[in-house]
Amino acid sequence: MARVAFLGLGVMGSPMAGHLKNKGGHEVTVYNRTGAKAEAWVVQNKGFAATTPREAATGQEFVFACVGNDDDLRQVTLGPNGAFAGMARGSIFVDHTTASADVARELHAAAENLGIGFIDAPVSGGQAGAENGVLTVMCGGDPATYAKADPVIAAYARACRLMGPIGSGQLAKMVNQICIAGLVQGLAEGIHFAKTAGLDVNAVIETISKGAAQSWQMENRYKTMDAGQFEFGFAVDWMRKDLSICLAEARRNGAQLPVAALVDQFYAEVQKMGGARWDTSSLIARLK
Ligand code: NAP
Repeated sequence: MARVAFLGLGVMGSPMAGHLKNKGGHEVTVYNRTGAKAEAWVVQNKGFAATTPREAATGQEFVFACVGNDDDLRQVTLGPNGAFAGMARGSIFVDHTTASADVARELHAAAENLGIGFIDAPVSGGQAGAENGVLTVMCGGDPATYAKADPVIAAYARACRLMGPIGSGQLAKMVNQICIAGLVQGLAEGIHFAKTAGLDVNAVIETISKGAAQSWQMENRYKTMDAGQFEFGFAVDWMRKDLSICLAEARRNGAQLPVAALVDQFYAEVQKMGGARWDTSSLIARLK
């Protein structure tokens, strides 16, 4: 059992913090910018709530975060009320936000100056993965720090792996998002084509999902795509944030991402259609 803090009780963070308390048996203190969510979490899970990241982080062996983007992460870590100001030498900060590799390197350097360990550890698996404690976690950092964090992360992970030095977890998550972007557009075009050709979409997908076209997106999203239902899942706004991180990194490292860049523009159209909070499978809405 460890003393831990969790910063950011959103769709992902709230169940992850719950697993640390209830499955991992750890002593958990939570912080959320909107205090009511932290109070509700404490009522449900019987941990402790703090009013600033610093207060939550003080005296903890591990501090976890899952907030929105690079700037949100800076806000909960740096400055007089940030987590780093409360953390002791030898403690470890684990960041589950999907953010840039640059901010991971920047915060790792700031943490190192204070004797604090830092692991970038973005997750895949969505809301259901967080609620069921079966997330995939991609980590960057030094092996000794990772080895200490890994058994604690196990409370909500099915798979967790060190990908390389700091920033490597975020780079691996970029690969994940690049793969998904083109795949969802292909699935949207396939369903659109099947309907336009007058085929029975259910019959087609049930058949081809047993062959080489099979994917998680096909199995889990085709019915709602066909029905035009998108009020759930992983928001288009988040996907555009992630793709902008991928495209910026590709400009730097020289990788070619023509399809990801195009799909990013398609998501911009979905945002203009009112779909900023729709699930990423809403790419098909452009084709109707
Ligand atoms: P969310 O439900 O919108 O929650 C975001 C959390 O971050 C909230 O607790 C929010 O506090 C907090 N926050 C945001 N900006 C902050 C700031 N400047 N200072 C302090 N707290 C701040 O988002 P989510 O779906 O849990 O996603 C969190 C991260 O995980 C994102 O990076 C996302 O890309 C990534 N992710 C999400 C999914 C998914 O399926 N949802 C899957 C994989 C990865 P308030 O309550 O006060 O707003």
